[in-house]
Amino acid sequence: MIDTHSHIYDEAYKEDFDEMISRARETGVERLVMPGIDSSCHDDMVACADALPGFAYPAIGLHPTEIGENWREELQFVYDHFDDRPWVAIGEIGMDLYWSREYQKEQMEVFCAQLSLAAEKDLPVIIHAREATEEIFECLRRVAKPLRGSFHAFTGSYETYRRIKAAGDFYVGIGGVVTFKNAHIAQAVERIPLEDILLETDAPYLTPVPYRGKRNESAYVRYVAEKIAAVKGVAFEVVNRVTTENAADLFRFFKK
Ligand SMILES: [Zn+2]
Repeated sequence: MIDTHSHIYDEAYKEDFDEMISRARETGVERLVMPGIDSSCHDDMVACADALPGFAYPAIGLHPTEIGENWREELQFVYDHFDDRPWVAIGEIGMDLYWSREYQKEQMEVFCAQLSLAAEKDLPVIIHAREATEEIFECLRRVAKPLRGSFHAFTGSYETYRRIKAAGDFYVGIGGVVTFKNAHIAQAVERIPLEDILLETDAPYLTPVPYRGKRNESAYVRYVAEKIAAVKGVAFEVVNRVTTENAADLFRFFKK
């Protein structure tokens, strides 16, 4: 399995980092993608990538919830560090109007700038969208360049998935929420082809059942895969194989 969204550099793992990584590997996680957030976590993320070559792959980007007064400097940080190393993606980027609408205009500007950067550099994007579906589509229209990537932590409807597919070469990232009781994302997942799905945890957040409420970690991606298998009525191995191929295609893991 490939966990396409895991913040293993988070301080939540300070005490048991090595054990957490061992559990992920033992469960069958072959690789994981670490989305960037802002300048403050950048060094810890890069250190994880250096400690786990061929396993933990870093992305670079400015997260919408970190857009505030100093947004210009934070965006500049992304440009300044762009040539440091081969990033697998630009992310996580997007819009979050649930968090705050104070910087809505700036969120849009930063998101559009990073979408353009991704198109120019031919990198996938990892999109964070919360209460901002229309604004996200508006930015994709504005940038109007061919894009590929992941709509991370997707919990939308099948109709929204169809609009995402029409907007570019996108996958939807399915995480722990699909295991929650009465989660309507399970109904959408039933109809979304496996070929368009990526597995993710968003660890340390959005912990799947049976550990809901506790700290999440990449090893738990298997509960997400098991739930998708149950919802779609296919074998766990099929979910594992197809979603791994999807992630490898998107992040070009086998083409470097
Ligand atoms: Zn995240």
